[in-house]
Parts: sequence; structure tokens; C-alpha cells
Amino acid sequence: MLRKTRVFRAVAALALTALAAAACGKEGSPPTKGPSEAQLPTYQVAKGFELTDSKTWLRAKKRGHFVVGAKEDQPYLGEKDPATGVYSGFDIEIAKMVSASLGFAPSSIDFRTIASANRETALQNGQIDYYVGTYTINDNRKKLVGFAGPYFMAGQSLLVRTDEHDINGPQDLDGKRVCSAAGSTPYQRIQKDYPKAVLVAYDTYSVCVDNLLTYQVDAVTTDDAILLGFAAKAPDELKLVGKPFSEEPYGIGVPKSDNALRFAIDTALLTRQKDGDWKKAYDATLGLSGVPAPKPPPIDRYPAS
Ligand code: GLU
Repeated sequence: MLRKTRVFRAVAALALTALAAAACGKEGSPPTKGPSEAQLPTYQVAKGFELTDSKTWLRAKKRGHFVVGAKEDQPYLGEKDPATGVYSGFDIEIAKMVSASLGFAPSSIDFRTIASANRETALQNGQIDYYVGTYTINDNRKKLVGFAGPYFMAGQSLLVRTDEHDINGPQDLDGKRVCSAAGSTPYQRIQKDYPKAVLVAYDTYSVCVDNLLTYQVDAVTTDDAILLGFAAKAPDELKLVGKPFSEEPYGIGVPKSDNALRFAIDTALLTRQKDGDWKKAYDATLGLSGVPAPKPPPIDRYPAS
């Protein structure tokens, strides 16, 4: 069984590579790789910045850089180049602009890949200083971690193969095999609101997409921002269907007790929205999946609890 899964994954990976290569030559198709270093904005590093009320910041100061949790397999959002180990995407740019505003060179960030199900633990046990990776702010999670932001608004959607005609929205999922990431809000929503769907969970959405391409599942569900990236990379094979059926405000996860860090990141985000860096970052990354820059959502600077 394990071997079979591996073979399927290998085939799917090959299929995606071939598709990406084919898409590359087509007129108007999106670039298959992330943006080149030259197209990315640079962020002015704040000089003499101090945040001595923040334990997390003081620890970073001692270390000399931030350790940031992220995703590594979400096109245009958080991707790790397997050859160089370099991370890129909109979430990565957000992490870099925050680091610069808090006095550390963006190039010094040590990124760590953390899956959806492990984010709260990573923040609670000090494995990372902050987390930027399609992380929905909600009250349940706020019991465990703090959230700066939001810096982007996404919505849950569905990804299917282009040869699929029976699934046009979540109402069509009865008896269908639907894949999502363990510990994610989209997984929980299907479980609760569409109990007749047959849910399949993996650690990451890229494994779900491999399973969709090899007919192991009928749909992948998560945020539209994530699914659009996968669809843009394989437009002949994959499509989004229906309208978004939730609101997923993306926040920057911080340790729950570190309100000083949370407020400083809120201020940093606000400044980067005003000075145009937020839009520049969007255009160079997530904008490549085909949706023009929206207005960023208002920052929710909720009081310390
Ligand atoms: N935004 C959703 C969540 O935080 C889905 C994306 C993800 O798993 O990162 O659960």
C-alpha cells in the first residue's frame, strides 16, 4: 500500500512537472517558477529599533535573527526551492517586511516549514518566533496563540480536475472523496457542514493535489488563494469551482502572551500597507496566480487578554 502510494506520488509529481513545462510555452500562461529576485521589493530595515517588552524579540536579538514558521509547498504563497532551500511567495514577503520593521535584515530569517496541524504547538514551545502561512484567525486558535493582522482575506473553495462536471460547489460533495489538510479550518468546515462528504486528510495540500491528479480523490478543499496557485500551475488539468463559502482572514501567529510583539507587527503591517510595500509584494507573488491586488483588510488590534 505504501509503495503504491509512493508510485502514485512519483507519477503525479512527474505529471505536474510535465504540465508546468507545457504551460510555460503557452501565451498568457503564468510563469511556472516564483518571481525572480529582481522583481521582489526590498524592505528598509528599521535602525535602532527596540522592543524590550517582548520576550520573543529579545530572544531574536540575542540570536541575531528571527526564526519564522511557514509553508513550503503553496504556490505564490510559501514555496521552498528544493535546489537552493530558498523560500518565496506572498507569505514569505510578509514575513520579510515584518522582520525589517522590527530591526532585522529580511535575508537573515531562518524559515522553518510547519504544517497546518502543528502551528499552535510550534508557537507554544518556542520552536518559532512568529508564523506566516495562510493561517486563519479564529476564536478557537486565539485561545492558544496571538494573531497580528489580518494581512489578507481568503475564502474556502474547491479544486477539481477539468474533466469533473458533477461538482460545482460544496452542496455536490455527498459521497465524494474530498481532500484537505489535517488541522485546517476547511477540513473542519466540511466535517461539520457537509458530513456526507468522504474526507481524506494529509499534512499538506500538495499531497492532496497529487491525489486529485491521479484520481485518488474527487476534490481538494482549502482557501481560494492556495487553490488558485495550484490551478495556475496546471490550468489544463485543474480548475476552481463555485463561489468561496467562508471567510479566512490571514494572521501572523505569535506566542499568546507576547502582546508587545503582536502590537509591533500590527503597526508594521499598517505602515507597509500605507507605503505601498504590501501591494508591491502582492503583485510580485500572489498576483501571479491571476487575481489583481485587493484592498487589504483592516488590522484588528484586539486588546491584550
Ligand atoms: N487558512 C486555513 C487554515 O488556517 C487553511 C490553510 C492552511 O491550512 O494553512 O486552516
